[in-house]
Amino acid sequence: MKERSDSLVLKGLIAAQSRLSSHHSMLPVLAAKQSSIEAGIGGEERVAELFRRYTFSFKNNIFHDLSLSSDSTFQIDHTFLTPSFGILFETKNIAGSLEFKDDPPQLIQTKENGERKAYESPVVQLERNLELLASWLQARNITLPLFGAIVLAYPKQIVTVPPANTKLLFPNMIPPFINSLPQNSKKLDSETFHWLCHELLRCHRPYIPKPISESYHIPVGDFQPGVRCLDCGKIGMIKLPRTWHCPYCGVNNNKAHVPTMLEWFLACNRTITNRECREWLHVDIHTATRILQGMDLKKIGTFRNRVYVMDFRQFK
Ligand SMILES: [Zn+2]
Repeated sequence: MKERSDSLVLKGLIAAQSRLSSHHSMLPVLAAKQSSIEAGIGGEERVAELFRRYTFSFKNNIFHDLSLSSDSTFQIDHTFLTPSFGILFETKNIAGSLEFKDDPPQLIQTKENGERKAYESPVVQLERNLELLASWLQARNITLPLFGAIVLAYPKQIVTVPPANTKLLFPNMIPPFINSLPQNSKKLDSETFHWLCHELLRCHRPYIPKPISESYHIPVGDFQPGVRCLDCGKIGMIKLPRTWHCPYCGVNNNKAHVPTMLEWFLACNRTITNRECREWLHVDIHTATRILQGMDLKKIGTFRNRVYVMDFRQFK
């Protein structure tokens, strides 16, 4: 029922790197973060692909990358829902040998070169998501047994010590695991099941990361301003009446400022003022006003102190 949304975290990291000078000290840090996020997305895609290929013999719906809020906000990689139960899958894509420690909970990775690295245990994350989804359901007067499992997206991941009380699966073990769960407990009637599935979609809120400048303490001034050409990727489109022109590839595009504004919100700041907009897009005050007012941004404050905020709901 729901595919994975575009990762705004990834978009922000890519935008930020492309606007920093080639010798900026934070580039390696951002690049490393980008690879780890891409590996995670790759793993989630493998699991999603398995669900696309496999057909179950009973009614079910699958939600990828669901973000909900209960006592706090939480994000579930894959949610498999039937009228009899729900299953949360937490996908991990960490190479090498993996050791799941329970006390204190930790995931220890040993790479091929012998280097060891500790991560927050996915068991903790899964348990927390199970509790939060249970209370989300309870708030809607729905009782449904919930199960959880950790999926290792790639079979090359070697487990030396599995978690004591949590199911650990490779993708091809997911269908037999689901089929092994009891079907005949008190089921939701089909109207309630239908309502619940739509309620999950209705309540989904995309995860909006902090701007890169804030997360990595990079001054906004370090990011190169200018409108990016969507055709050749170069920064420096020129404003012409009613359109933007790329001096590198010659293309014209009247909407080119929109993704560049999104880059501002992901890399620099959650809000933008008229002055910042002028400097970011290289336009005059009147063009900046027209652009800011034409973009469906939320306005905060009046006249002189007005700032604009991106409404990220369009990325649902
Ligand atoms: Zn171009």
